[in-house]
Amino acid sequence: MSQTPNILFAISDTGGGHRAGADAINAALAQLSGDSTERHIVDLLTSTRLPLVRDAPDLYGQLSTRWLPVFDLMFQVTDGPRRVDALTQFVYLTAHRNIVRVLEETRPNLVVSVHPLVNRLIGNARATYRLSFRFVTVVTDLVSLHSSWADPGAELCIVPTQEAYQLLLKRGFPASKLVRTGFPVHPKFAAYGGTRAEARAALGVDAEPFTVLLTSGGVGSGQLRDLVLMLDRSYPDVQLLVVTGKNAALRADLQALGLRSSIHIYGFVDNMEVLMAASDIIVTKAGPGTLMEALVMRRPVIVTEAVGMQERGNIDFVLNHELGAFCPTSDRIVPAIAELMDPATYAGTVARLADAVPRDGASQIAQIILDQLQLAPPARKRRLHFPSMAEIRRISGVR
Ligand code: UDP
Repeated sequence: MSQTPNILFAISDTGGGHRAGADAINAALAQLSGDSTERHIVDLLTSTRLPLVRDAPDLYGQLSTRWLPVFDLMFQVTDGPRRVDALTQFVYLTAHRNIVRVLEETRPNLVVSVHPLVNRLIGNARATYRLSFRFVTVVTDLVSLHSSWADPGAELCIVPTQEAYQLLLKRGFPASKLVRTGFPVHPKFAAYGGTRAEARAALGVDAEPFTVLLTSGGVGSGQLRDLVLMLDRSYPDVQLLVVTGKNAALRADLQALGLRSSIHIYGFVDNMEVLMAASDIIVTKAGPGTLMEALVMRRPVIVTEAVGMQERGNIDFVLNHELGAFCPTSDRIVPAIAELMDPATYAGTVARLADAVPRDGASQIAQIILDQLQLAPPARKRRLHFPSMAEIRRISGVR
């Protein structure tokens, strides 16, 4: 039997941020420990094979691009520890064999959850099947945390901001299980050493003009199209790099407009660090992954909107720490860019960014994970009491 410790990252591809967080920690682990750990990244919601739950990645794309109020309603309806318990018990009862199959196939010594909705599934599987592994959660939201993030069954909960730390304490999460680190930004961002000119040359774009990167998460949600058209009109001399992510329709739509040659349209890119290095400002929805990557690259950010309630606190984070601007309407984004184009204002903002976020969050987390691997798994617990469907309905209020 292999003695190499095995780590399972449990995620779901709802948006791009959870996989990006797992990839970031995975890369940092590879740097710190090389081949001395075996690592798997699995979309656990898809693995349940349950209709709707397994479709969560596609549904997230649809909801966050077209049905935002529905998405927000779901956030509110499920936000509460007892509701999370009821909901996940229901999913677990229906899909436990498929969840345990993942755990049996990967045989982890440590499970790292990088998605709030998979936490309870892991904890329940460990308890009911009396499995032996340690369990750590890595929170990838900055301020407004859904109740499902705080999992009392985990040995450790790693949070990326002081705001998240205080909120979980206030909700009664034990301080002994809470650790604050930097956000898990992929090490390639901090490691990118190229200048703006080098990054622009690598991308094959103009070296000179003031350059704005427009991006909107992994699924390319929100108001990206309107923003591009508005900036095209207002700033004909500014170069735009537009990342549409997995939103192929938006990409095709923008390409069909025949925009000027200094507006570059990209699909899903795997060189975000080069695009950010080539840019002067990053304009984005309030996705925590993109925000933190931009801040690690020391680029001022303009946040246009929160796509989903979980992102609202990220706007407060940017404003409270004076890391950029929040411009929910086009009439505000035009003067905000003008302000940042002033060299003195730009330099001042970049200077503030320098101390705002740690650049090595992923390796801080990787080190904690390596330390956890040295510890024995917790004692196996007695089987859980599974509530009946009637109890689940009573707790959740669903008739
Ligand atoms: N991303 C990427 N390529 C793209 C678009 C996005 O690698 O074409 C990455 C981006 O760098 C970030 C993540 O996807 O790491 C998006 O995470 P965020 O939290 O900003 O938003 P989400 O997609 O989770 O809503």
